[in-house]
Amino acid sequence: MNAEIIAVGSELLLGQIVNTNARFISKQLASIGTNVFYHTVVGDNPTRLQQAIAVAEGRSNLIIFTGGLGPTKDDLTKETIAKHLGKELEFDQAALDSISQYFIRTNRVMTENNKKQALVLADSTVLPNDNGMAPGMLLTTNTHRYMLLPGPPKEMEPMFLHYALPLLQKEPDVSETIVSRVLRFFGIGEAALETKIEDLIDAQSNPTIAPLASDGEVTLRLTAKHQQTDVANELINETEEKIRTRVGEFFYGYNETSLMNELFTLLQKNDLTIACAESLTGGMFQQELTAIPGSSAVVKGGVVCYTNDVKEKVLGVKKETLEKYGAVSEECARELAENVASLLNADIGISFTGVAGPGAVEEKPVGTVYIGISKKGSPVKVEKFLFAGTREGNRVRSVKYGCFSLINS
Ligand code: ATP
Ligand code: MG
Repeated sequence: MNAEIIAVGSELLLGQIVNTNARFISKQLASIGTNVFYHTVVGDNPTRLQQAIAVAEGRSNLIIFTGGLGPTKDDLTKETIAKHLGKELEFDQAALDSISQYFIRTNRVMTENNKKQALVLADSTVLPNDNGMAPGMLLTTNTHRYMLLPGPPKEMEPMFLHYALPLLQKEPDVSETIVSRVLRFFGIGEAALETKIEDLIDAQSNPTIAPLASDGEVTLRLTAKHQQTDVANELINETEEKIRTRVGEFFYGYNETSLMNELFTLLQKNDLTIACAESLTGGMFQQELTAIPGSSAVVKGGVVCYTNDVKEKVLGVKKETLEKYGAVSEECARELAENVASLLNADIGISFTGVAGPGAVEEKPVGTVYIGISKKGSPVKVEKFLFAGTREGNRVRSVKYGCFSLINS
């Protein structure tokens, strides 16, 4: 079954409210395996609504409307659908009772136009509204199913969960469940990653593989459908394995995580402490790490060693190093990482030194970054990068690369 959601309301088109109803309904339909192929938004205008219905009927067999079921003149959804389908509107006694109860409960006087809300499409199944007055409806014809839901999310959402979903789930072809898993990658661009797994993307239909790039990271969303959840999970496992065989070195985590989160978990699991010497990142690394609850167990502290003076006097970088190689150098990064770890008695020391921009420093181009990692018992590792971003972008990337290097070291 293919579904389309038609959200009715001029305020949506005017940008006054966001169409959260479509998001909610889509998510719920996905959970029962129903494909949503279109979201339509149309104003409170019967002619255009009727056009939208006609278009929807040509491409979807489940059409879900939200909004325009209220008592006011601009609420025209069911009237328009009734006219379009040649159906009568009739009073539903249960809805009428529930509306008058609502007025008694809230100690208000019921007006004549409130009665209008108890009008339902003939031959439809009425969906009770436990949080308001306008009932919902489901009308099934030979070719289509039309579902009408109220606009306010606090009425629509519970109605959908309690009354609409069970009715839709009765259909045999919507009994599949959808399982999704997001794989997160860092250090590889979207195009490069796609190229490496292009044949897998092209060949797969269950699960589907959807790449997405944001904030310098690439994610792949694997989505599988099956009647049984564990089979859907197994399908995803198999595809994940194929993907990780090819680009596993760039993989760092699942779903809603972040590089810093993964680093924190790793430090915590291995009972390791960290100290940071931050020049170009100015404390950004520690700011992000200490934002995670529980970080006090792993963070010893750090030094924002912005000037050479601080690098030398607080962190003990040799004068000769600074004179001979400069602050933006492999040698300086090495001494910073090593010295901050020993000064603060941490298992790991990490250092950031580089040229964030906009101007070059020590004749080194903007984007030159050295990240040093000192781990107890192993030689200090320094990586050099040349980023092409803005000042802010270069700093953010440095922090991310620092995390990624630590996770993989
Ligand atoms: P009412 O009885 O409140 O008039 P209704 O079914 O007629 O309900 P609308 O008049 O279209 O619905 O919308 C009422 C309110 O519900 C809107 O002002 C808005 O706050 C919210 N709403 C409507 N449609 C949506 C939507 N698609 N997404 C999120 N909120 C919505
Ligand atoms: Mg209304």
